[in-house]
Amino acid sequence: MQKTEPQVDLRSDTVTQPTAAMRQAMLAAPLGDDVFGDDPTVNALQARIASLLGFEAALFVPTGTQSNLCALLAHCQRGDEYLVGQQAHCYRWEGGGGAVFGSIQPQPLAHQPDGTLAIADLEAAVKPDDAHFARTRLLALENTLGGKLLPFDYVQSATAWAQGKGLSRHLDGARLFNAAVAQAALTGATVQAEARRIAQCFDSVSVCFSKGLGAPVGSALCGSAEFIQRAHRVRKMAGGGMRQAGMLAAAALHALDHHVERLADDHALAQRLAAGLAGVPGLQVETPHTNIVFVELVGDARDRSADLLAHLAANGVRATGLYRLRFVTHLNVDASGVDHAVAVIRRFFNA
Ligand SMILES: *Cc1c(COP(=O)(O)O)cnc(C)c1O
Repeated sequence: MQKTEPQVDLRSDTVTQPTAAMRQAMLAAPLGDDVFGDDPTVNALQARIASLLGFEAALFVPTGTQSNLCALLAHCQRGDEYLVGQQAHCYRWEGGGGAVFGSIQPQPLAHQPDGTLAIADLEAAVKPDDAHFARTRLLALENTLGGKLLPFDYVQSATAWAQGKGLSRHLDGARLFNAAVAQAALTGATVQAEARRIAQCFDSVSVCFSKGLGAPVGSALCGSAEFIQRAHRVRKMAGGGMRQAGMLAAAALHALDHHVERLADDHALAQRLAAGLAGVPGLQVETPHTNIVFVELVGDARDRSADLLAHLAANGVRATGLYRLRFVTHLNVDASGVDHAVAVIRRFFNA
């Protein structure tokens, strides 16, 4: 008998396949050699994202990890340090690249429950100008962080505080447009206006096209022309100079044209998933701000984690985590997929 169970991949918003229209845009893109600086589609993308977020310049890079690395090494010298959250991607999830390649020391700080870094903790972590200490140079924030929208008044006050201390400010905005969509829903302003408002609190911003925006590859780092020139040198050292990269930039341009506003659909599906799982005994569902739902296994359910994961896999539902499961909605998930995931999980708990 044919197995016709639906498959739903909620591991990450990186798993999206380029749409037919995106593939067409990639095929049609005029190309050059971006290491010579003459790929017109890469140049168009860099100009577009820089102007969208209110910066002088931008640099197209293969990954968000490389984008953050370029930013760290362009902001900091050997023996400098950056203030960063314990859960931040550019501290925890990038193989320690800033330390390995840049001899830059992280100063990780505990997050508050809302994902922010308390300004008192930041204040206490800034080192005096003394030969004993690394030089504190940079504040790195992330928005969204684990799917959480940082409160905008916090973003403003933390970055203003950093500026007052003479620190540079970098935003890992891998999911900046998810943050902007969520913030626009609160303020009634446009998504573009909110993206720009968040970005303008920082000296540099990294955005991913390969997450919820649905492009196959690519991120951009934005900043001043002088900063981007330094970052460009780091990209070269990191092996990130690509040639006919316009095929990839075309996908990113297509995503900026067609996949930004629709992130609201992903957020609605995350709400649908969280609502569907609410009240299941053994599950503690965190209310999502954007497209990521965390579900903690509590009590006896923790002992059944391995069985639950096997049950999900056997029923075509893919997620990550062990005791704290992570479900991410995206372009290739629809309401029926979410409902399937809910039904499979409820069946496991007889709920
Ligand atoms: C995904 C992600 C990145 C970069 O990831 P790559 O896989 O290197 O593109 C950086 N920061 C955050 C917050 C991310 O979620």
